[in-house]
Amino acid sequence: MTTRTPLMAGNWKMNLDWKQGLSLVEDLGDALKGLDTSAVEAVVLPPFVDLRTVQTAVDAGKLPIGYGSQDISAHESGAYTGEVSASMLSALGASYATVGHSERREYHGETEQVTNAKVKAALDGGLTPILCVGEPLEERKAGKQVEYTLAQLEGGLEGLSAEQVGSLVVAYEPVWAIGTGEVATPDDAQEVCGAIRDWVRTAHGEAAADAVRVLYGGSVKSSNVAELMTKPDVDGALVGGASLKADEFAKIVRYLE
Ligand code: PGA
Repeated sequence: MTTRTPLMAGNWKMNLDWKQGLSLVEDLGDALKGLDTSAVEAVVLPPFVDLRTVQTAVDAGKLPIGYGSQDISAHESGAYTGEVSASMLSALGASYATVGHSERREYHGETEQVTNAKVKAALDGGLTPILCVGEPLEERKAGKQVEYTLAQLEGGLEGLSAEQVGSLVVAYEPVWAIGTGEVATPDDAQEVCGAIRDWVRTAHGEAAADAVRVLYGGSVKSSNVAELMTKPDVDGALVGGASLKADEFAKIVRYLE
């Protein structure tokens, strides 16, 4: 079995202007000094307008922090007002692009077709997509969390090769757990993260299933991350609120220590 490097990604959402972002990334750099990046990867996902500042701080301080975007255009370049392309992000040294976060699906009407095009655009531009999937409360109540989430997964990954699927990150984020303080139990997280890996195994084979990293997201904090990480198919966390404080996010990254 491949060893998958755990990934802790901090989704800042629409928080922190560039000055505040700079101070967070510098404080995070201090708190992560000496981090063994072969054992765990720390990534921040700031608003677009903070990315250039984050790049400069990471480069200048040689900080053990990767970065990426919260969204990406499905298009390469041209007349798409307001959009930011994968190649623009790559040119800033970004390595990740979040795709299909539930807030994008809910407030911007992103369908499976859109997430699929964005996943492809990210891969074409040399970025690793973090494809977000997960069920709303009604689906959970009806016991349909696996079925619902796998349909989003299948749509988002349509037309990709096994190698591409193995290279990406899937974040299982049950909508009812996002920003609510109501974290999924480790068993609930494992149920769906395991089903995601099983789906990849069936559709793309053992190597892709072994390599793809599956994160859990939804009210992750330093006090609950270690327990979630004991589950075999949980390879890391996508963290919202708790990523806005350097000490708290650093504790999440250092969950093993
Ligand atoms: P939360 O957000 O950690 O604040 O629940 C997670 C996310 O939306 O990625």
